[in-house]
Amino acid sequence: MLSCGAARIEYNAGMSNQHTYNPPFTKEQLCSDYHGLGMSQAEIAAKWGTTQKVVWLAMRKHGIHARVAAKRDQKGSKNSTWKGDAAGYQALHLRVSRLLGNPTRCDVCGTTDPTVSYDWANLSGRYYDIRDYLRMCRSCHWKRDGTINNIKHMKNRKGGSQ
Ligand SMILES: [Zn+2]
Repeated sequence: MLSCGAARIEYNAGMSNQHTYNPPFTKEQLCSDYHGLGMSQAEIAAKWGTTQKVVWLAMRKHGIHARVAAKRDQKGSKNSTWKGDAAGYQALHLRVSRLLGNPTRCDVCGTTDPTVSYDWANLSGRYYDIRDYLRMCRSCHWKRDGTINNIKHMKNRKGGSQ
């Protein structure tokens, strides 16, 4: 019979420790998302498949100053980050938030807990279609996106706090 013991060692060696915050982005990428695209820490965390805490710690480490939360009232073509169909996945998500507002409840589990973070989750991949989004709490959203993100980001989220 074959032993599978040898294969396990390599897998465990590649696992990241949940207590070492290893952001999946560079300082430049973080700065570009935060200041360039005007994304929130939560949005950046969702984009890179990590937690807001990691983003916050990375910002602190890199000396990127948190801006004062500002009301977003830019819509459609007035918004310089909207680049039509060429816009990236995250820019589209931002556009949805700008057009539909920030969700304050979850359409999946029905929670309206004000301490929970809410996202607009895309349903069928039509990112440009604002009708193709459902508001979801972070927990439901990540449960739903989990399978896709697990493939994309490999084991980044393993052992994370959410
Ligand atoms: Zn929910």
